[in-house]
Amino acid sequence: MNSKRRRGGVKRVYELLYGEYGPQNWWPGDTAVEVCIGAILTQSTSWTNVEKAIGNLKERGLVDVRRISTTDESKLAELIRPSLYYNVKARKLKEFARFVEVEYGGQVDDMLDADTEDLREKLLGVWGIGPETSDSILLYALGKPSFVVDAYTRRIFTRMGLLEGGESYEEIKLLFESALEEDPRLYNEYHALIVEHGKTTCKTRPECETCCLEMLCDYKG
Ligand code: SF4
Repeated sequence: MNSKRRRGGVKRVYELLYGEYGPQNWWPGDTAVEVCIGAILTQSTSWTNVEKAIGNLKERGLVDVRRISTTDESKLAELIRPSLYYNVKARKLKEFARFVEVEYGGQVDDMLDADTEDLREKLLGVWGIGPETSDSILLYALGKPSFVVDAYTRRIFTRMGLLEGGESYEEIKLLFESALEEDPRLYNEYHALIVEHGKTTCKTRPECETCCLEMLCDYKG
């Protein structure tokens, strides 16, 4: 499939998913710091588990970059235990907090003025922050236009024939960003819709008979 048709497919899928599920209103979180923490904790676990972990941090006033920096890593790990992989995630939180302290004086809000690409490069240089986490922070915490790619994106669009399956994260991100208007609200909504579709319909065992994308999909079971 040529790239023009792929881009057209990406736009059409958005319309169909939006028509099916409506606005998703992501991302839950009271502050930008909380959304950053959520983006780090949500890897390889459910949002329910993340909420429990964030609840524990909130109870102790630890949804705060400076306080994360000064809190013992093992104590942090214990508090975020519900999010699974808590030891490695505690280190990631500490590394992220250190980064914000050094680069932005401990103020996540000061990242709002940064150039998206420059900030993305910097975030990717922080230990434990990969492309998906970095883009989630940029998009959902800071409202910057950086499309988030996840396993659901890869699965749905490969089954549909809009991806071949071996594309890199950056190639998939570029496909979406070249197909869509550069609008963080649109990127926000689209990623949320993809997650919803991956959870409810295009699951490991897809429910194609009830799928709103069925007429566009190459999947043959
Ligand atoms: S038709 Fe089936 S494989 Fe294709 S997107 Fe829908 S659920 Fe997934």
